[in-house]
Amino acid sequence: MQLRKTFQLESAHRLPMVPPGHKCGRIHGHSFAIELAVEGPVDPVMGWVMDYAEIKAAFRPVHELLDHNFLNEVPGLENPTSENLARWIWDRLKPAIPGLCEVVIAETCMSRCVYRGD
Ligand SMILES: [Zn+2]
Repeated sequence: MQLRKTFQLESAHRLPMVPPGHKCGRIHGHSFAIELAVEGPVDPVMGWVMDYAEIKAAFRPVHELLDHNFLNEVPGLENPTSENLARWIWDRLKPAIPGLCEVVIAETCMSRCVYRGD
């Protein structure tokens, strides 16, 4: 069984590796939608995989580091592409949420990146 929970981040970034003149080289912001998927068996007593509130609690420190911040200044996010952001979030959440199986980063409603671990 799989749970999915979505969070929102308002963050600024610029992509330092793009060629000169590329629009993503300029500072801009996104309303990122972060979707976390957690997979596991349904506990026969509780009737759930896990408490959504546990996912929320695990994500809180990540949210505090990233929300309304300039991502390039966050250690490990010097090149804050969606791909790198997905891996960065995975690395921080996986120890707390062993069933984490997917991190989805949507930087617009038209573009998203899915990471399922190495
Ligand atoms: Zn961007």
